[in-house]
Amino acid sequence: MSDQNVPTAPVVFADRVYLSEKAGAELSRMGGYAWADAGDAFDLAGKIGGSPDVKVIVTEYVPVDETVLNRAPALKAVIAYGAGYDHIDVQALKRRGVLTCNCPGENSQAVAELAFGLMLCLLRRIHRADQWVRSGEWYREGLVLPRWASGRELWRKTLGVIGLGNIGVRVVRIAGGFDMKIIGYDPAKNDEQLIRLGVEPAALPDLLSRSDIVTLHVPLTPDTEGMIDAAALKSVKPGLILVNTSRGRVIDESAMIEALQSGRIGAAALDVFASEPLSPSNPLADMENVLLSPHLGALTREAGDRLCDSIVRQVRDILKGRPPEGLIR
Ligand code: NAD
Repeated sequence: MSDQNVPTAPVVFADRVYLSEKAGAELSRMGGYAWADAGDAFDLAGKIGGSPDVKVIVTEYVPVDETVLNRAPALKAVIAYGAGYDHIDVQALKRRGVLTCNCPGENSQAVAELAFGLMLCLLRRIHRADQWVRSGEWYREGLVLPRWASGRELWRKTLGVIGLGNIGVRVVRIAGGFDMKIIGYDPAKNDEQLIRLGVEPAALPDLLSRSDIVTLHVPLTPDTEGMIDAAALKSVKPGLILVNTSRGRVIDESAMIEALQSGRIGAAALDVFASEPLSPSNPLADMENVLLSPHLGALTREAGDRLCDSIVRQVRDILKGRPPEGLIR
């Protein structure tokens, strides 16, 4: 698509996301879809180019704001391809009567499982061990393994869960299998709700000072941006393991780097970063006690298929004027 070649489809995918065959076929029956392959909001706006055909935009990363709205006169809704929708200017859409939707819960299990994958990998140094064997070190060094190979267990550790929505709740369920003590903080949940989940309610400072491992599952909002800042990091249990699969900017990245360098935090496993893709010159990329993944928390085939099914259902409802299941109110 370009300014000269405006889309004639009702659904435009801003970026090149996974689209299941089944969902592609169903969207085709509803009038079709087009790929914008946009780099940013300005690019997306240019590619939509004022087309009266575009009714729904689906976006994983490309921001949708006034720039885009100005060039999409018939737009009815924007669907976030996933759970997070911090790249969509919800207020700007609201002012124009355009709906904002996400796909709640469809990728929660994938993210919760990754959080445990990262924890286990950090505690048992699986990533380092793999490299060690492949590079012939084991063969050279012999059967008595170096000290780093001795890890730690999740069993009966205290896990602090910040944010107990769709992902946080699944994290709690998995943690039960490791007999972990779970403490949680979520201002939208009352104590009774948390206790029913098997979670001890705690204020944030209390959670930080008592947890062996803290895992973040909050959306990026003005309230959560930088919630784990230098002051919060000073109050953590020494040697804390920090896991972030939510959004990078929830943590003050420079403060976290300092805390990792000083040893106040023992280790961090990060799927998300203040700026993505992570630059190889970022100090995190060169730290032994840090495990990195490229924002792949939601990326399982199962979650992808569920997400696509949700998008099809929502497009159908939006085109028929019915409220879609992921409507953000
Ligand atoms: P959700 O809306 O179901 O749950 C979020 C929870 O956070 C809610 O219960 C909310 O009350 C709570 N919360 C809000 N502000 C808080 C605060 N200040 N302190 C503590 N809790 C607070 O969302 P979800 O599906 O669980 O996803 C959470 C976030 O994870 C998403 O918004 C997204 O940014 C991120 N995410 C990342 C990936 C990935 O690929 N790494 C994939 C999916 C989601």
